[in-house]
Amino acid sequence: MDNRPEDINQLTASKQQKPGFQLSSIEAQLMSEVSHNYQETGTLTDELLSALRFVYETPLLPALELVDNRAVTRLECPNKRQLYHVIGSSGVIYTCFQNNSYCSCPAYRYSVLLKDEHIMCKHILALRLSEAMGVTKIRLVSDKEMVSAILQVD
Ligand SMILES: [Zn+2]
Repeated sequence: MDNRPEDINQLTASKQQKPGFQLSSIEAQLMSEVSHNYQETGTLTDELLSALRFVYETPLLPALELVDNRAVTRLECPNKRQLYHVIGSSGVIYTCFQNNSYCSCPAYRYSVLLKDEHIMCKHILALRLSEAMGVTKIRLVSDKEMVSAILQVD
């Protein structure tokens, strides 16, 4: 499978054929492109931005704004559990998990789970972009603090 991230036509075709299956490999390629691009140039090319906009649609710009504001913090504890806190534009802190793409915000429930409008909310997208660009803040917490952070998730 040779879906080069810069080939927008191929992205279009893949997305229309098998959304669920294809998207994760497209995403992985897009994010690795984000990582290289950002590390080399300190920014993202217009070409890459339009590919990102095509795949993620409306949540992209607010997500990039969150990344610019360094709103993403990864909480780590000694037993290797991780979660993310993303400070939303209104100052509310949302909890996200990268692996199962969960976010505690209302948009995740409404636009992602119920209406299937977007593949992820801006917070999860922000955390993926932030990780790819290497700008995530890290906070070390104890196992106990991690448990209570997890229990606080709605
Ligand atoms: Zn969210």
